[in-house]
Amino acid sequence: MTDRRNGTILGLQGPETGTRGAGTGGTDTASAIDRRGLLRGLSRLALGAAATLAVPGLIAAPAIAAPSAAAKRRSLEFRHLHTNERLRVTYWSEGRYLPDALVDVNHVLRDWRTGEVGDTDPGLLDILFRMQQRLRTTEPFHVICGYRCPQTNAMLASRSGGVATKSLHMVGKAIDIDVPGRQLQQIRQVALDLQMGGVGYYPKSGFVHVDTGRVRHWG
Ligand SMILES: [Zn+2]
Repeated sequence: MTDRRNGTILGLQGPETGTRGAGTGGTDTASAIDRRGLLRGLSRLALGAAATLAVPGLIAAPAIAAPSAAAKRRSLEFRHLHTNERLRVTYWSEGRYLPDALVDVNHVLRDWRTGEVGDTDPGLLDILFRMQQRLRTTEPFHVICGYRCPQTNAMLASRSGGVATKSLHMVGKAIDIDVPGRQLQQIRQVALDLQMGGVGYYPKSGFVHVDTGRVRHWG
């Protein structure tokens, strides 16, 4: 898979680097997809550039190709700062999400004020997994807030303008996190780079909000 993608990148050098050159053939859709693939490949190269500055061009790609795509297992570790509970969990393996693991995740990410358990969007775990890789950390995610039941959210929204009345925390699609040993700005940046959902920056409160909603950012 990695090799094929690299082949595509190599094959694109030339016609696809222009804007919309005449006679390059192919449909717009195909071009758009190819361009996206190219950009993805390039961002991966950029990611590894610091470690492999001396290696020219595409040779570096296989070593730094998205490990998430290649990983056979996806594991995460949480420490909820309000309950002090910890969970280390493999939530995806051999191509599928593991239902028992998601139950454990839902429990640790429950509304700590009321004890109500929500349903975590597995896509949110994938965002965290990718962030963990890009941050090159094995530290647990510190959780400030995971699931939030409607009553809790309404209470918080009435107190603070910073809490949305229709927060994605209420549907298990958002989490507020920090990562020990990494600067909050760095955590925010990797989340932004992923372009997988919303990113909110709360430096005064010491966390970054990520969600699986529309790609957007604030704070
Ligand atoms: Zn949040």
